[in-house]
Order: sequence, then C-alpha cells, then structure tokens
Amino acid sequence: MIIKAREKPIYITKLEALNDRLAANHEKKQMINQHLINRLTGYKGEQSLDYFLSFLEEPDYHIFHGIRLFDGTNYFQIDTLLISRKLIIISEIKRMAGILKFEPEFNQFTRITEENVMEPYADPILQAERQKFQLNKWLRRNSKLSNLPIESLVISTSNKAVLQTTQGNKTVPEKVIHKEFFPFKIKKLEKQYLENVISSSEHTILSHLILQNHSPHNPDILKNYDLSQIDLLTGVHCPECRYLPMKRRKGRWTCPRCSAVSKNAHLKALKDYALLIDTKITNAQACKFLRIESSSVTKRLLGAASSRYEGDKKSRTYFLTGLIE
Ligand SMILES: [Zn+2]
Repeated sequence: MIIKAREKPIYITKLEALNDRLAANHEKKQMINQHLINRLTGYKGEQSLDYFLSFLEEPDYHIFHGIRLFDGTNYFQIDTLLISRKLIIISEIKRMAGILKFEPEFNQFTRITEENVMEPYADPILQAERQKFQLNKWLRRNSKLSNLPIESLVISTSNKAVLQTTQGNKTVPEKVIHKEFFPFKIKKLEKQYLENVISSSEHTILSHLILQNHSPHNPDILKNYDLSQIDLLTGVHCPECRYLPMKRRKGRWTCPRCSAVSKNAHLKALKDYALLIDTKITNAQACKFLRIESSSVTKRLLGAASSRYEGDKKSRTYFLTGLIE
C-alpha cells in the first residue's frame, strides 16, 4: 500500500525556475544547470524503481517515497521506506552508469565511467546505515516502537551499471542490489523475519505518524546559491519557444520571436516569483516582474491568479501560494 506517493520534489521545481531565470552568461548558470541535471537523473532513478515495487503483496507493506524526518539534531531523507509488521527496509537509490565498486574495508565507493575515468563518491552503504541510525533515533523519540528490525539497502537503478566489490567480500552483495532483484530481496528478508513484532493498529499508527512528521526539503534557493533578486531575469516566457519577454497586447501575450499567443503565460512567471522570491506580491512588484506598464491590467491578472489578498489599494499584497501547491 503506497502511503506516500513519489512526487517531484519542490527543490527540483525551484531549481528549474532558477535555471529558467538566469541569463545564459550568468556566472552560476552552468553550475545550476548541472545541479538540475543531477537532481533530475536521481529523481528518474527513483521513479524507475516503482514498477518493481508493484510486485509486493499489498497491504503487507506500507510504502513511503521520499520521506524526510527530523531526528532531533538533523534532518534525514529516505528514498524509499517500506514498513511491514515484521521489519523496516530503508532503500538508498543510485542511478549511476559504469562500474560501481564498493570497498567496505575503507567505506570507499568509486565509479569508473564509460570513458574509463575513476570518480570517488560518498559511500552509499554508509549513507543507508546512517539513515538507519537516524530512523532508530526518530522512532525512540516519537513512538513506543523501537523494537522493529531495520534493514538498509542500496539499489542501483541504471541499466548500465556493473556492481563490483573486493574479492571474497560477502557483505556488499547482501546490501547492494540491482533494482530487478528488489522484490526477491524482500522475499529473502521476510524469511529471516518471520514474526510480527507490531500489531496491525500499531502499524497504522506508525505510518500515520511518519506522514504527519514528513517535512519536505524546501529551502530559500536564492540564499542557497548566494544570489539575489537582481540576478533574475524578469518578464514572461513564451510557452512555445521559451523566449523572454513576451509582449502584452490587447489582453494577450504575444511572442516577438515565434508569434505564439497566450492568455495565461503570466501564471508561470508568477509561479517562478513564488518559488524564488516570495509567495506574496504587490501590484508594483508584479508590474516590474511581469514587465507590464499598466497597474490596472496587473491588478486584474493578480486578482485572478491569487488565492487571496490582504490590505487596501496600493499596499495590497496578493498571495500566490495556490500556484505552487
Ligand atoms: Zn515564442
């Protein structure tokens, strides 16, 4: 049973908006574009696991995708979390092509790319173990259930990955698997944990508690990259060719490059504003950001796009939260 479905993380949506609003020659454009590509690749890897999860027997498992909890000191995120009445399984998902070499003697993880370049990375086995430790801590603080056994796995989701470890090592193949093996691995673990350690109602309460405490990673992205509003391009993007800025004519947006016409292209721009700058906006701020000269036109657009407003006349602020939910 899927308790929390996989959703596109708001952090990726923010990175996309930021990438769209940085000029091609901005000094941080390339870095942010690369970060966006990395995040999207990771997200696709997580999505590709979902098919194999559908082989699990329902409703034995409560499944959570991309859950993020606070252990009292730090936040921790689990790519996929499975909870049954017998055990908990934490999965760290990796989408990397090439030879992936695990050397647990040194907690070392390296990838040899298709171009034969060796790249060191943080050890995902250790990452998954850390999540196990943090989840245990969270369970002790938030519930009476600290007796559930927890297993941690690393799941490789790239079709072009070759898994390797040092000769004779037996622990790595138990911890690191290809995604196709995931349902079988779970069956294998079930044979080690035969007894129910929590009741059916405890199972339900625990899942509810996890969902309630989920807190998505939603930072101020401009601050993260040490940027400010003046770094951002203003205007409305053409929905067809991405040209910026469209021109407002006779109640519509028209694109000077491809001549596309749109009635509501400004909604995406207001969404960008909400994601990057603030979820509240005044008429003057919107005129500037949308590049509209007429405040009465802006007033009409904001009235229709916002979920509510506060204040009167010139000091009125419109709430854009409805655009990013
Ligand atoms: Zn266009």
